[in-house]
Amino acid sequence: MPQNIPIVENILNANDRLAQENRTRIDSAGVFSINIMASPGAGKTSLIEKTLPLLKDKLRVATIDGDIATSIDADRAAAAGANAAIQINTGGDCHLDAVMLRGALEQLDLTQFDLLIVENVGNLVCPANFKLGTHKTVLVASIPEGDDKPYKYPGTYRGVDALVINKIDLLPYVEFRMDYFERGVQVLNPGVTTFPLSCRTGEGLDAWISWLMQHASHA
Ligand code: MG
Ligand code: ZN
Repeated sequence: MPQNIPIVENILNANDRLAQENRTRIDSAGVFSINIMASPGAGKTSLIEKTLPLLKDKLRVATIDGDIATSIDADRAAAAGANAAIQINTGGDCHLDAVMLRGALEQLDLTQFDLLIVENVGNLVCPANFKLGTHKTVLVASIPEGDDKPYKYPGTYRGVDALVINKIDLLPYVEFRMDYFERGVQVLNPGVTTFPLSCRTGEGLDAWISWLMQHASHA
């Protein structure tokens, strides 16, 4: 239906303008911000839960969790030590957009934080199409999802600034060809910063934490 394309483009342009406003607001507070995307169950919330205690007394962290319903993820972030945890319920929408993020930012005094972690709705398709205004996008992949995901969701893999490969402790038990997965990633996003890790065992978390610290100290 080609006649619909201009409408979609207008929506995306309006979103991009608002994302730019969000970025200005975040920048003026001197906060480093990331937008975490993944399919449901890849471990976005687990990653946040494991990250927060490791940043305690180092960075002041605010989290914004997007979900279709419930405040389970914000509750988990607060319990793990987030200095503030805001929940966005999208009311059925399968992604966050810049308007929703603006609403959440208005509830925070951003000057009180060093790092803002936005957890997008679990979905590998459309979150990548809606800029929020964060500095970096982070994709969490996980071993049980399978090694074909870069090939099936090229739009999402192409645009991200960092890739976390979670649940590497399951590699001995799951058919996952790391070389095949990485070839797909390299074609779409050559040289992307990659963090193989396990939220369950803690293996590999130190490199991820260093990356966050390094960026937050320059914000
Ligand atoms: Mg979650
Ligand atoms: Zn969506």
